[in-house]
Amino acid sequence: MTTTVPTADTVPPPNGCGRCEIALPHGWQYTPAAGLHQWTPPTQGQILARMKARRERRLTVKPVYHATTRWAASSNPEATS
Ligand SMILES: [Zn+2]
Repeated sequence: MTTTVPTADTVPPPNGCGRCEIALPHGWQYTPAAGLHQWTPPTQGQILARMKARRERRLTVKPVYHATTRWAASSNPEATS
């Protein structure tokens, strides 16, 4: 059995747009599903689901061995470096 670990790309930020999940700054965006729109506040249910998905990702990501420095790379998917 394999489990799908959501990547940072598949887990939208909690305060991402309620219609298209794009984070701020949003401006005017066009997506085929949502059409042309401005940022729409996400519902409390959307925020909770996104926070749970991000937490699940943090708990399931394994540290990756870094071949050059021999240090374990950060397992935090939200870290930029
Ligand atoms: Zn949007």
